[in-house]
Order: sequence, then C-alpha cells, then structure tokens
Amino acid sequence: MTARIIDGKATAEALRARIRQAVVTLEKSHGFKPGLAVVLVGEDPASLVYVRSKGKQTIEAGMASFEYTLPVDTPETELLALVDRLNRNPDVDGILVQMPMPKHIDAKKVIEAIDPAKDVDGFHPLNVGRVANGEHALAPCTPTGCLILAMLAAPNLAGLEAVVVGRSNIVGKPMAQLLLAQDCTVTTAHSRTRDLKAVISRADLLIAALGKPQLIKGDWLKPGAIVIDVGINRIDLGNGKSRLVGDVDFDSAIERAGAITPVPGGVGPMTIACLLRNTVEAACTRRNVAMPAI
Ligand code: NDP
Repeated sequence: MTARIIDGKATAEALRARIRQAVVTLEKSHGFKPGLAVVLVGEDPASLVYVRSKGKQTIEAGMASFEYTLPVDTPETELLALVDRLNRNPDVDGILVQMPMPKHIDAKKVIEAIDPAKDVDGFHPLNVGRVANGEHALAPCTPTGCLILAMLAAPNLAGLEAVVVGRSNIVGKPMAQLLLAQDCTVTTAHSRTRDLKAVISRADLLIAALGKPQLIKGDWLKPGAIVIDVGINRIDLGNGKSRLVGDVDFDSAIERAGAITPVPGGVGPMTIACLLRNTVEAACTRRNVAMPAI
C-alpha cells in the first residue's frame, strides 16, 4: 500500500483564500477589518522568521497587522503594559506574544494578561479550560490544523483509536482534547511511555508531536493508519547541507499508512492559517457579528 499524501500547503492556501473572502464580506457589510497584533521580544532567528511570516500572511488576508519587536532586555512590566494597551485597543482583535520569551519574563504571567477574547493562540487558561470541557473556544492553532488535515482523510473520526505522541501544552494536550471532542478513543504517549511501538501499532489515527527526527518507523504503524506528523526537525546532511524532517520516518511510513502528511508541506502551513481564522472569529465574537462561513 502507498499512502495518500495529505497536502497541508494546498489546504492552508484554500483556507487562507476563504479567510480573505470572509474579511471582504465583513468589511463590506459591517465596516471593520479584523486586526492581529504580534509581539516579539528579542531576536531569536526562528521567531523572527515566524513573526514576519505571520505579519505577511495577515496583510495578504486583508486584515490589519500590528507588529511589535522589543529588545531582548525589555522589562516584564513593559511587556505587560503593552499587552494591556493591546487589550484596550478596539482595532486589535487578536494578540499573540511569540514564544519562547527571554528567561527574565514569566511567560505564564504574560499569557494570563491577554484578554481571553483576544487570545488567538488559545493558550489562556480560560480557553484551555473551555477546550478541555469540550466547549467552543479559541483553540490552539497547530492542533486545530492537525484536526482539519485528519478530517480530510476521515471526515468522521468517531470511534477511531487515536494516539497522540507528545503532551506539551501547545500541541499534545490540546490535540488530545480536540480528538476526544470528535469522539475518538484517545491515548496520549510521552517520553515515559513504556512500549511506544506497541501503543502506536493500535492507532487508526496517529499524531506525532515529539520533536525527535524520524523516530517513528513505518513498521510500527497499523496498516492503513492516518498519520499526522507535527514534528519539524532540521537534520544535518553533511557538506554544510541540511533538510527538514518530521517525527515519522516518511519513506517507510508511506508504504504502510493509509494517508500521511509530509514534512515540510503538512501541518506547518496550517498553523498560521488557523491563527488567521481564530482572528476572524475573535473579531466577530467581540463585535457580536455572525462569522461568515470559512
Ligand atoms: P515539546 O518538546 O514541548 O514536547 C515534546 C513531547 O514529546 C513531550 O511531551 C515529550 O514527553 C514527548 N517525547 C519526547 N521524546 C519522546 C520519545 N522518545 N517518546 C515519546 N514521547 C517523547 O515539543 P512541542 O510539543 O512544542 O513540539 C513537538 C514537535 O512539533 C517539534 O518538532 C516542534 O518543532 C513541532 N511543532 C510544529 C509546529 C507546526 O506548526 N507544525 C508547531 C509546534 C511544534 P515528556 O512530556 O515526557 O517530556
């Protein structure tokens, strides 16, 4: 069997096109543009790339983009004051403070300072709690993107054995909650899981989010499984060259899975698209306006 490739790049492009259309509709019928504020403290190169990409895609979607790049030694009080101003700015619908933050800043404090109605990353405890309760909420973007891709392979996930490898607050834990809300039977594995291979072999749906390059091999999979690979790992090829790989060994997995996301071009592009969607949703909810279909 050769797995069907789940094309995250094309899916994200189509999602962004629908978002752009929704933004046009909102501007025409209600006279506002959703706005996203992205705050970066410091000059971490990977974060700089993400922040630029978020700003560019926000503008391409027709929304207002507010970018703040603060020096690495910005005091926590100053960052909290900025978050407070953004909370009160009526043109800002979504606020994202890029992780990781410098060590002298208490990330938890900053996340909790964001107005939950503008928390488009879905990391505020109120939104985390709502997702855990199975209520509608601004849900974290990467797991939401994974869910959309999984549902392209199986529109009805009810009853599937789903295994999530990884239990981070930004991917693994919310992913498990979202799958539970879809009536999957969910197992969460992590670094202390005793027999990872045996756990994975039961999965009709595997979400790999462990950050270990190509650790999961094709012969670990249940034949026909849907594989969503969240991992983004840069491996050294020698000669000064490198390439990105996932947490799943793609070449062996494609022979056994039913459907699989590639890396790059799978989950990665979905994250920003879901962030933009959350921003439109936050904008509509705050203004008590029905959200156009996206
Ligand atoms: P974290 O490092 O925060 O979490 C990794 C999780 O994997 C932990 O729960 C850890 O277990 C578990 N783990 C580590 N090693 C093993 C192992 N050998 N067996 C089983 N479980 C293991 O990572 P993130 O959740 O932030 O990210 C995971 C991956 O996803 C990374 O490659 C990251 O780059 C990528 N990513 C991609 C995004 C995208 O947009 N596509 C967005 C966010 C992340 P324990 O809790 O016990 O330590």
